[in-house]
Amino acid sequence: MNEITDAAIIGGGPAGLTAAVYARRAGLSTTVFSSPEPGSQLLKTESIENYPGFPEPVSGYDLLDNMQKQASGAGAEIIEETVIEAELKKTPFSLKTDSGKNFMARTVIIATGAVPRSLGLDSEKKFAGKGVSSCAVCDGFFFRGKTVTVAGGGDTALGEALYLAKIAAKVYLVHRRNEFRGTESLQKRIHAVANIETIMNSVITEIDGGKKVESIAIKNNVTGETRMIKTDGVFIAAGQRPATGIVAGQLQLDSTGIISVDAQGRTSVPGVFAAGDVAEPVCRQAVTAAASGARAALAAADYLKTL
Ligand SMILES: Cc1cc2nc3c(=O)[nH]c(=O)nc-3n(C[C@H](O)[C@H](O)[C@H](O)COP(=O)(O)OP(=O)(O)OC[C@H]3O[C@@H](n4cnc5c(N)ncnc54)[C@H](O)[C@@H]3O)c2cc1C
Repeated sequence: MNEITDAAIIGGGPAGLTAAVYARRAGLSTTVFSSPEPGSQLLKTESIENYPGFPEPVSGYDLLDNMQKQASGAGAEIIEETVIEAELKKTPFSLKTDSGKNFMARTVIIATGAVPRSLGLDSEKKFAGKGVSSCAVCDGFFFRGKTVTVAGGGDTALGEALYLAKIAAKVYLVHRRNEFRGTESLQKRIHAVANIETIMNSVITEIDGGKKVESIAIKNNVTGETRMIKTDGVFIAAGQRPATGIVAGQLQLDSTGIISVDAQGRTSVPGVFAAGDVAEPVCRQAVTAAASGARAALAAADYLKTL
């Protein structure tokens, strides 16, 4: 991007890539910054069964790959770098990436998605990549025939436990409440799988081991009792938080931490738009992310006409 681009899109998930297709079709020069880490949440799912146009399940990888090809084919430039600074207080807006390059843009669409919430334990950081993971599809392979523990109670946790049950010998599913938040159909499947053991009203208070995870301490919230269980892996599926770090203090967020947008995806700063999970209060799905990406790109095109 040597000149000032019309639309700089930060994020290469369904929101950002759909925004890129719509921005290009509206005639805007378009650059997508797509950080390989953490990568789109779509990459964490083995099988997507609810994206329109795919009567058979499609892997998150394949769906994203198609979206990338479509965005590149439409003429968007995709740069696989992380935006580490976004200056949104004056126009043209400026972005700096982790390779040290600076880019200028007339409009910016924030589509940075969401990142997994942690349990907040020091030992979680210590064993990251050494038995602690937030992605069963990415790392489940390493636990064939072993014992793993999934922490969480929503759809993501239930989905991770079901996926891991096909690979691991034993799966503990630890949830802090007395009932799961995940959908009824997933709950039924969990209870039907013989090698999944649910541990309710409980939280992981420590992860222990040598070079790798070997055990965890689990505290029962009702009795106050703590016990150790042996486990080779811990998959944290305690939900996601919107990835708003680079816009902190520059854009208005709502009380839940998502970027506040109007129905067109306009943020509190004229010329800056947001789409996908980073701005979605209710339905965090690929299809809603794609739809909001389309809306944000069209709003950006409208905004450029006013300059
Ligand atoms: C385990 C799991 C299973 C799921 N299953 C389904 C399902 O079956 N069906 C469904 O519809 N949805 C599913 N979802 C939800 C769906 O994946 C998300 O709603 C969707 O991916 C959100 O799209 P997005 O574009 O907003 O964000 P993401 O897909 O998270 O993409 C954000 C992108 O922005 C990049 N990024 C972040 N910060 C920066 C930066 N500073 N610079 C550059 N790039 C950056 C990230 O690396 C990533 O590539 C699932 C999610 C999970 C976690």
